[in-house]
Amino acid sequence: MTQTAAPTTFTVTNPATGESVGTFPVHTAEDIAARAAEARTAQVWWAGLGYVERKRRLNRWIAAIGQQSDELCDLGFAETGRPRGDVQFELIAGLEDIRWAAAHAGRVLKERRVAPGMALFNFGATVSYPPLGVVGVIAPWNVPIYTVLCGLAYALAAGNAAIVKPSEYAPASSVLVMDAFYTANPDAPKGLISWVTGFAETGSALCTAGLDKIAFTGSVPTGRKVMAACAENLTPVLLELGGKDVTIVAEDADVEKAATAVVWGGFFNGGQACVGIERVYVTRAVRDPFLAKVKEVASQVTAGLDEGASYGPMIVPAQIDLVRRHVTDAIDQGATALVGGVDSIRAPFVDPIVLVDVPENCSAVQEETFGPVIVINTVADVEEALTKANATKFGLGSSVFSAKRGKEIAARLQAGGTTINSVLTFVGMPSVPFGGIGDSGFGRFHGDDGLREFAAPKATTTKKFQLGPDMQSFPRRPEDFDQVRKMVKMRYAKRRGV
Ligand code: NAD
Repeated sequence: MTQTAAPTTFTVTNPATGESVGTFPVHTAEDIAARAAEARTAQVWWAGLGYVERKRRLNRWIAAIGQQSDELCDLGFAETGRPRGDVQFELIAGLEDIRWAAAHAGRVLKERRVAPGMALFNFGATVSYPPLGVVGVIAPWNVPIYTVLCGLAYALAAGNAAIVKPSEYAPASSVLVMDAFYTANPDAPKGLISWVTGFAETGSALCTAGLDKIAFTGSVPTGRKVMAACAENLTPVLLELGGKDVTIVAEDADVEKAATAVVWGGFFNGGQACVGIERVYVTRAVRDPFLAKVKEVASQVTAGLDEGASYGPMIVPAQIDLVRRHVTDAIDQGATALVGGVDSIRAPFVDPIVLVDVPENCSAVQEETFGPVIVINTVADVEEALTKANATKFGLGSSVFSAKRGKEIAARLQAGGTTINSVLTFVGMPSVPFGGIGDSGFGRFHGDDGLREFAAPKATTTKKFQLGPDMQSFPRRPEDFDQVRKMVKMRYAKRRGV
C-alpha cells in the first residue's frame, strides 16, 4: 500500500509483487457526517422490516456473496498475497456469521416478560432489545472479509445501520462484500451499509462522529486511541484486540494430533491471526515426541505466492521488523531454534520459525508477534503450564490437549475461548461468544451475547392494579408506614437459605 501524490486517495498494492489492486478515497469527517445522516434514515426503514424480513434480505446477501466467491478469493489474494484457501476460510466464517445472526436475532432479541418482583407485584414488566441506531465498524487487514462481516452480521441482524472502515492495507475484498448487499437488495436505501476508506484520521473521525457504538477490531495501541476518542461523546465501544494465544499439551495428550494442530494454528495465515498460537507449554513427559512431530510437520510448511504455498507474505512491512526483534531477542537470551531462525526472514516472506526454551520475560513470550513464530517451552506439569499460560496481559483464545483433563484445564485458562483437543474452533462457531479479556479487549461478537452487543436493553413496566398502600404517592399515612413495616419484617427479617 502506497500513498499517491494526491492526498485524497491511496493505492492498494500486493505486498509481495507491488502490483496495484485499486485506488481508494481518503474519506474525511465531512464524508462520514454525510454517511451518518443517510444511515439514520436508512436504519429506520431497516428496523421497521422486523426480524423475518431482515433475515430474508440477509440471506439474499449471503447468496450474492456466494456467487462472487471466486472473484473474492482472487481479490483477497491480490491485495494481501494470502493463498486463496485462507481467503476462502475467512469467507466461510463470515458468511456463517450472517446466517446465524439472521436466524437467531428474533429469538434472542424479541421482547420478553419478566417477573416484577415482590415490591412491585402489581406491575407487569417486559424487556425489549431495540437496535442502537448507527454503528461504526473498524477492521484490520489480516482477515479483512471476516472482521468486516463479523461486525456487520450482528449489527444488521439486530436492526442497526452501519458505516464500515476497512483497513487501508486490504479494503478491496471487504468493499466488494459490502456492495453485494445492494446487488441482493436493490431497494434498500443508501446508507444502510456504507464504507469509508483511509488511514488513522478516517478511523478517528468515525469514532468522534456521534455514532451509537464503535465495534473495533485491531491492535491494542489503536484500541486505546479508539476508546479515548469515543469517550468524547460517550460512544460505547466493543474492542476485539490482539492476543498471545497459548496451548497446553498435558501428559496424557495425543502428541501427534497436538503437534499437527499447533503447527496449523501457529502458521495459518502466516501467523497473522489474532487467535494464532504463539505459545505452547508442553509437559516434560511428552516433550521429546511432541517436538519431534512439530519439527517434522513444520518443515513441510512453506511461505510463498505459488499455488502450493501454505501461507503468503507478511502483509505489513513493519510486522517483519517486529518478528525479527522477537526472534533475535529470544535467541540472544538463550532460546534454541527448532525450526528456522533469523535467516527465515526473507522479506516480504517469513518461513516458519519454532523457538524452544525461551525465557519467559522475552518479547516473544510476552508481546503479540503476529507472524509465523511459535514458542514452545517445557513445564514440569499442568499446574506450571497454567501459571505460565495465564501470565501475559492478553486473554483472547487458548487450547488444551489432554485425554482426560481437558475440561478441568480449560476452565482454568484465563481467556475468552478455549478449544479442547483442537485449536481455534471457537472463532468459526457463530453460536458461541467471541472476544477477549485483559488487553485482548472486551465485548463480544457471535452468539446471543454478540447480538445483544448491538441492542439497547429497554425495560417497560405497566401498572396493573393497586392493592394496599400506594408507596408512590404523597402524603404517606402512618397506617401505611405501619403496614409496610410489617411487610419488611415478614419478608426480610427471617433467615432464608442461610
Ligand atoms: P490497527 O490497530 O493498526 O488498525 C486497525 C484499524 O484501525 C485499521 O482500519 C486502521 O486504519 C484503523 N485505525 C488506525 N488508527 C486509528 C485511530 N486512531 N482511530 C480509529 N481507527 C484507527 O490493527 P491492524 O494492524 O490492522 O491489525 C492487526 C491487529 O488486529 C493485531 O493486533 C490483531 O491481533 C488484531 N486483530 C484482532 C482480532 C480479534 O477479533 N480480537 C481479529 C483480527 C485482528
